[in-house]
Amino acid sequence: MAASLVFRLHDRGPELVREVLLERGWEEYEEGEREEEDWNLYWRGSAFRNSEYHNLLPWQRLNHHPKTAGITRKDCLARNLRRMRATFGSALYDFSPTAFILPNDYTRLLAEYNKLRLTRGLSVYWICKPVDLSRGRGIFIFEDIKDLVYDCSVIVQRYISNPLLISSYKFDLRIYVCVKSFNPLTVYIHQEGLVRFATEKYNLSSLHNLYAHLTNTSINKFGPFYKTEKERVGQGCKWTMSKFRHFLHSQDINELLLWQRINNIVTLTLLTIAPSVPSCPNCVELFGFDILIDNKFKPWLLEVNYSPALTLDCQADITVKKGLISDLIDLMNYTLTDSLRERAYQRQGYRQSCFHTNHPSHVSIPVLSKVKETKVQKRRSGSQSQTQTLPLFNPRNNHEKINHEKINQRQSRQHAFVADYRGHLPPVDLNKLYAARGRIINTTATKIHTDKTLNLILGPHSRTNESVVNSQTCPARAPWLMDNRSLRMSEVTNHDDTETEAETELSGKTDISSSIHDLPQRGLGFRQKLPNIYSGSQRPVRIPLEGTTAMNGQHIPPLRVGDFIRTFPFNSATLRASQHKLDVKIVIQELHKLTGQLATSMDKLRRKEEEEVRKNIDGEEEFDSLLWGPKDPPLLSQYFKPT
Ligand code: ADP
Repeated sequence: MAASLVFRLHDRGPELVREVLLERGWEEYEEGEREEEDWNLYWRGSAFRNSEYHNLLPWQRLNHHPKTAGITRKDCLARNLRRMRATFGSALYDFSPTAFILPNDYTRLLAEYNKLRLTRGLSVYWICKPVDLSRGRGIFIFEDIKDLVYDCSVIVQRYISNPLLISSYKFDLRIYVCVKSFNPLTVYIHQEGLVRFATEKYNLSSLHNLYAHLTNTSINKFGPFYKTEKERVGQGCKWTMSKFRHFLHSQDINELLLWQRINNIVTLTLLTIAPSVPSCPNCVELFGFDILIDNKFKPWLLEVNYSPALTLDCQADITVKKGLISDLIDLMNYTLTDSLRERAYQRQGYRQSCFHTNHPSHVSIPVLSKVKETKVQKRRSGSQSQTQTLPLFNPRNNHEKINHEKINQRQSRQHAFVADYRGHLPPVDLNKLYAARGRIINTTATKIHTDKTLNLILGPHSRTNESVVNSQTCPARAPWLMDNRSLRMSEVTNHDDTETEAETELSGKTDISSSIHDLPQRGLGFRQKLPNIYSGSQRPVRIPLEGTTAMNGQHIPPLRVGDFIRTFPFNSATLRASQHKLDVKIVIQELHKLTGQLATSMDKLRRKEEEEVRKNIDGEEEFDSLLWGPKDPPLLSQYFKPT
């Protein structure tokens, strides 16, 4: 029987992740019950230390990439977007309200304030937000600069004072973005998301009323009208994205351009940090992008959340977040990685050694077994265990020494362990392996052989492949890991994972989206629930489940996994541009082209739909993508000529 996968939660949360993984048959890691490395996924709301990235074993994944604070901290995001605006033009990077980081930018703010006041009079509004707080804490809106009072680092932004309203209620969108890899950049956006409403009607004459101006659940759930049935919005303060799509349809709004603009915002924002995020193939990240739409249908980026809230407050949360996490796990493509973990432990005598007492023969057993044994001994015999053979845990040693030795031992243990583990893999020609992974372009013939050999053991897209490559080609450590400074907590602040406490579910009566999702099937994996992606045709479009390999040997990640739609790379030019050193210029050119073509040629190309779909079915298109956003996402090739 296949062994279970093991998850590890920091501080015992979030509960939703536990629930989804247990439902899928995973086991929870318990401190002291398992070996320190005996897990497949470590999930935490805050940042991991550099050492935790460095010590990752091939079957282990973390739910954060290193060094992403460049977009998840409000001031860093403002700074990075400013830099990109200077490099690539303000026309492209015009999706975020002008921001000033105070106190440093105070003079610039004052100049802008005075300029606007002269040209526009008093109708300009500003919003002030502490840089390292989340969940709406410390935020206020002002019109007159004399009302700007702050005692910590803040950003002051132009307040979008003409938001799109639904029955006079302000709302924003929470878009879930998964960066499966920064190198090469691989991005998926989830089809479901949340629409978060303010709970009092929008009114610019009451800037102090946060229930009318902020859309944070953590604020609105304490509002007097939270549970009231509000016109069109209903009870509570959230919709699913499906319900929002219905709303757009009912208003006869052409949503395609809106979705594509949001899509562009996500890509352009990630481009600000992608070239500088260290490669860490065993990491994945779920970001929460907050988007506000104004009354001209222009989407604005408000912020990027590091650990989007996974608490379940209402039916919309349950519908969206459960599916989201389940799809995220599918996206990680765990299948065969687990057996590597299990087999490695069995090979090392791990299980047997758990039940051994101290014995002279232990001197020759692999290092891992020693450590496990040490723990067992320690548990069994308390402070006076067999300390002569295992000085690491000698309670008479001083703490510093123990810690130092522990680190050394852990490192050598892991090297020995990984080396031993590698020894059981089939021989790998690194050039071929690189070719198979799209890093070096090689002949197709050699690639196929390597793919087959590896896939037998690792599965076609297991990151384990990449880990092995990395540790073989760079056994010491990656250069970025030489910097042993750990990520400071303060580097990452927009994590709203504790946004709200779970509370009594609101009635889902008005939530038309509840009929749209097929929740009970989620645990079965994404293969069961691939929808018909082309609403205009009865013919099914072929979707490669495991991704494909293009003619030049580059691996194309799957088009969609569950409700996650691949949004980057979106054509062969962006695939090529992201393979080695990310070529931001080319990516931006392609985004331009795509958006331009979407805008101008929708009608013309719509007539070609049938032809394009047929082309795809016949397999003539080597690389296509879906347009994220619409309920049944169309293929991009219907609108865009792939390069
Ligand atoms: P936090 O991290 O505290 O949630 P946000 O930047 O997301 O901070 O702001 C909280 C809320 O304030 C948003 O959800 C939105 O409703 C409102 N908001 C923030 N910035 C703006 C802005 N520039 N214009 C209009 N509304 C804004």
